[in-house]
Amino acid sequence: MQEKGTISIHTENIFPIIKKFLYSDNEIFLRELVSNAVDATQKIKRLATLGQYSGELGDTTVEVSFDEKKKTITISDRGLGMTAEEIKKYINQVAFSGAEEFVEKFKDAKDANEIIGKFGLGFYSAFMVADKVEINTLSYQEGAEAAKWTCDGSTSFEISKGKRKERGTDIILHINKDSEEFLDKWKLQGILDKYAKFLPVPIKFGTKTESVEDGVDDKGEKKWKSVEVDNIINTTTPIWTKSPSDLTDEDYLKFYKELYPMSEDPLFWIHLNVDYPFNLTGVLYFPKVKNEFELQRNKIKLFSRQVFITDEVKDIVPEFLMLLHGVIDSPDIPLNVSRSFLQADGNVKKINSYITKKVADKLAELYKKDRTAYEQKWGDIGLFVKYGMISEEKFYEKGKDFALLKNTNGEFFTIEEYQSKVKPNQTDKNEQTVILYATDLEKQDGFIQSANKKDYDVLVMDSPIDSHFIQNLESKLEKTSLKRVDADVAEKLIQKDETYANLLTEDQSKEVKEIFDKAINNKTYTVEVEGLSPEELPVTITMEEFMRRMKEMAATGGGG
Ligand code: ADP
Ligand code: MG
Repeated sequence: MQEKGTISIHTENIFPIIKKFLYSDNEIFLRELVSNAVDATQKIKRLATLGQYSGELGDTTVEVSFDEKKKTITISDRGLGMTAEEIKKYINQVAFSGAEEFVEKFKDAKDANEIIGKFGLGFYSAFMVADKVEINTLSYQEGAEAAKWTCDGSTSFEISKGKRKERGTDIILHINKDSEEFLDKWKLQGILDKYAKFLPVPIKFGTKTESVEDGVDDKGEKKWKSVEVDNIINTTTPIWTKSPSDLTDEDYLKFYKELYPMSEDPLFWIHLNVDYPFNLTGVLYFPKVKNEFELQRNKIKLFSRQVFITDEVKDIVPEFLMLLHGVIDSPDIPLNVSRSFLQADGNVKKINSYITKKVADKLAELYKKDRTAYEQKWGDIGLFVKYGMISEEKFYEKGKDFALLKNTNGEFFTIEEYQSKVKPNQTDKNEQTVILYATDLEKQDGFIQSANKKDYDVLVMDSPIDSHFIQNLESKLEKTSLKRVDADVAEKLIQKDETYANLLTEDQSKEVKEIFDKAINNKTYTVEVEGLSPEELPVTITMEEFMRRMKEMAATGGGG
């Protein structure tokens, strides 16, 4: 029996459109077909577990192979297979029924993922690289007949009896002229590594040579021989699918090295695992970075059911956590929609705040568990925490309890601790507590020294993010202002009893001040003369904090 059919759509042929449109992303045909093979395999396994299939499962390895001469790529599985009826239903109808709509809407789609998701064109992505596709399949069902389907990319297909004896499906792609680059071992291996490295079913791609022990030689030394073994390209149970209680630190570090072979060990990690109200698993690592210029974004990989989707996790991961490394796997992230839809999507919003909360909880835990160790890591973590507190209100609320401030003596304080520390000695007449900070320990050394002499404490705020962090703190902390150590705050603070004697008389001081005022001749600067001990700087020249910030803004073109 042979059956021919025509797909009833008005558009002559949608494949040229698919091909043209998806051209830049055409390697994902392999992701789609391998995913289908994996899905089919998982389905038969589930049927077996449920007792709805009682035959042998056999070796369920999915195999990808190619033939350079015949110019074919074949994806074979031992999944549940399809009957001819099912082919008509799942392959013909699904894609073709949407064709008109597709042609109507394809112009709005932004990338291949969108098209595939929106129009259920996973299987049809094969036509991006093939001008003819064959399906050879045998369903697991009792008495099923093998079926064969071919389609040359026009709107007609052919279904006939097949010859397949084993349960499962072969998809054979007859690669088109423009896509012959895919008939290459390294090319295919590369694509499989990218998309299929963590799929849950073993995937074989050719063989590889391995050295194995082969007894001992005359001298009693081990002998080795080369053997050909299956080249299984994937790890079927990557760590994010496992329970944290079954994993050791080594497992996490090993996985990190697998993802980022060139990177230093991470500082720590967070295992994500939720199943309500959305599904999400993953492991996020805090990378060790020396300075913010080294930070790279888009190092988090997004998976959906262990299929790699993209490195672009913007909108899913909060902006300030884009600097983290690791993987996120969620079938609940819509992959097929536009960016603005993603931003508005309820699940995505929940995922976003879940991740924020998890990261905050982990940091709070590290802080509580071992403060000394936490202080030692602060140099690396601080940037993330500050960035998070500045950019997310919710994170500020949590972060304010484990964000640390470091003073010029190398001591660490929480914000609250620090406020209580400096309050008695650094509060001015208006009951404003003044926090002093230095942005450049070398250049501002004189000011730091003279502040310390007065028992004022000075914070170190010398990284680029600190200027934003300072403004943020100022807006959040009540009755508190932050001033750079060279600002003219000194005399406005209520001081403790002076512990030093002025070596200059009042007249002498006045005289020196006049000389400096005249020389500087600029009202925005304040000159202070304190003839203290001989090793002390006798004169400090300060500018009002407000004026300094104005000047800086003018210099950097405003903003900030
Ligand atoms: P999706 O995978 O999103 O359902 P596809 O276009 O990739 O969309 O596939 C359409 C349907 O064809 C699948 O849902 C499945 O029923 C069927 N199918 C595709 N490939 C296979 C396969 N290797 N084995 C069994 N069924 C398959
Ligand atoms: Mg699919």
